[in-house]
Amino acid sequence: MLLSLHGIPSVKKLIHYFKVLTKPKDHQNKLKNWSVEKSSELYKIKLWGDKYFFINDEGNISVKPTSGEALSIDIFKLIKELESRNLKSPIVIRFDDILKDRLFELHKSFNKALKDYKYNGLYQGVYPVKCNQQRQVVERLVQFGNEWNFGLEAGSKAELLIALSLIKDPNAIIICNGYKDERYIETAILARQLDKRPIIVIEQPDEVQRIIKAKNHIGSNPILGIRAKLLSNSSGRWSKTNGEKSKFGLSTCEIIKIISELKTEGLLSELKLLHFHIGSQINDIALIKDALQEASQIYVELTRLGAPMGFLDVGGGLGVDYDGSQTASNASKNYSLQNYANDVVATIQECCKNNDVKIPHLLSESGRSISSHFSVLIFNILGISNFPSKINLKSKKESLNVKNLRETLNKIKTLPNDEVLNAPYLQEAWNDAQKFKEDSLTAFRLGYISLTERGKAEELCWGCAKAILEQLKKLDISKVPDELKNIPSTLAVTYHANLSIFQSAPDTWTIEQLFPIMPIHRLKEEPILLGEITDLTCDSDGKINKFIDYGKSKNLLELHHLNEGEKYYLGMFLSGAYQETMGNIHNLFGRTNAVHITITSNDTYQINQVIQGSTKADVLQAKEYSPKELIESFRVDSEEAIKQGKLKIKDAQKLLEHVENSLRESTYLH
Ligand code: PLP
Repeated sequence: MLLSLHGIPSVKKLIHYFKVLTKPKDHQNKLKNWSVEKSSELYKIKLWGDKYFFINDEGNISVKPTSGEALSIDIFKLIKELESRNLKSPIVIRFDDILKDRLFELHKSFNKALKDYKYNGLYQGVYPVKCNQQRQVVERLVQFGNEWNFGLEAGSKAELLIALSLIKDPNAIIICNGYKDERYIETAILARQLDKRPIIVIEQPDEVQRIIKAKNHIGSNPILGIRAKLLSNSSGRWSKTNGEKSKFGLSTCEIIKIISELKTEGLLSELKLLHFHIGSQINDIALIKDALQEASQIYVELTRLGAPMGFLDVGGGLGVDYDGSQTASNASKNYSLQNYANDVVATIQECCKNNDVKIPHLLSESGRSISSHFSVLIFNILGISNFPSKINLKSKKESLNVKNLRETLNKIKTLPNDEVLNAPYLQEAWNDAQKFKEDSLTAFRLGYISLTERGKAEELCWGCAKAILEQLKKLDISKVPDELKNIPSTLAVTYHANLSIFQSAPDTWTIEQLFPIMPIHRLKEEPILLGEITDLTCDSDGKINKFIDYGKSKNLLELHHLNEGEKYYLGMFLSGAYQETMGNIHNLFGRTNAVHITITSNDTYQINQVIQGSTKADVLQAKEYSPKELIESFRVDSEEAIKQGKLKIKDAQKLLEHVENSLRESTYLH
């Protein structure tokens, strides 16, 4: 049972909560008063869904991955079919067509900007591997990006190996970022002889000496870049990690010193690129413009100091509108992809023109914006914890607190209208109810009342909350005292999800990132409960209780009752960036199943690839346990128990079969 207190909601939200929680709940009403349009409005799908997701006439979410054509498939039906192929939820569905479309949109926007501004240079993107390193994802991006010479950005030695092995296009650029030792640098220099185009970006002052050593050791030059530490303010969650104290990049003094070192070593002629990255999910276009102006000036100065240059890499940070509000809130951005491309092109062009410097080719390292939309996590709800709908009848002998609670409940229910208008009375009643409930707990702790009596007290307290909500409907909402504003969250429902947020939605836990989360079906039916979502881990933090709310967040999500014998599925959308990558096996819940889908014609699809989720054997092995030894240990214990007459041979066999099968199966509940 849930009795948590959340932040006090606004009056507007409160009215909504009251309406939801006090709606008549019979099935006919749920259908009569509701429509697909109302669900669209409630979950804001038209805003964040971009052109990719919508609610179809059957009340299910459909995906429409390609721009021009009207092809779509029903995600709920897809899930049903995947489950009948034994690909159970939780499952990540990756819509390859969306990934392709994101790349298309990025290049379309930049190419339009280049044309509109008559920019005399090219745009060439790279994908930062760290954003979603899954082989199937990176391979597809390289394949889809081939027509634009799309490259990769590596932030570590392992990512460099991925980039060097996957990129076959000699014109695609490989940006070598991150900390670099000599082996990293030498690998990048040698790869030039394989017709690859790695640019080693100097991010730390001491890297120069290693670069010089590697160049002398191998006897050939690297292509070099410099990452500047910009002082322009950033915004959003990553703003604190930028500026003067940022982990990566070179200050002005360091850049000047490095230029002189490169000159001495005859390497200045290899300095071709300036890079900056002011953080991920930049929500305000004004800050991007500031950064672009500062970087363009540095670029100009580098050419004046004698570097040939030729490329300006504006890093990542292109935001995703998770809540659809198009505002500068953390879960949104106040600019479009086209605005972004226009600003990059126009700002750099203006600065170079003013300073008579040849215009550079442009690079960006957008990760989130490319890989968020294509991946949807679908999970089912295993059960809900609700407040009791009926109050137990009065029994002969009841404790004093229970009697008091019954009296309080009766008074609230039978309050004449003029007294309801006197809100302080309801507040007093609620204070009393909570006090009587607390006193019952104390009495239970001290052994004065039974568990049954304690249960009655809790039940009656919830009853009071419900009755107060009913009475509040008659009251001018602006007159509701603060204490009563917490009642909707007191009555909220907990939805237990077949999911680990630490594995599948780590950013909701670490940085309170908001994702659009909503049911993928039953959207013709009114969602009459308010709930938060808890996961399977035994961690009390394993819950989602922040949901998108147009530029803000709300603590409770409107959801449906569970229907007997029917699975209830929720989708977490726009979740393709960073989540799978940052996920961990807390409590040994492993990777979920994943499928790659393309749409072949309306309502038909092709499963391109299935990536089975981790089995229990996989997660145990990841922690150095041996499944074989584990089975053997069960066998030895069973033999001993058989010998002592504690276990029958047939039961021992059953136990071993369970263990063996379980090791081969997923870590989630089925
Ligand atoms: N480039 C660098 C150097 C980064 O550190 C990051 C991630 O923070 C990115 C690119 C990708 O950023 P985003 O996913 O916001 O586009």
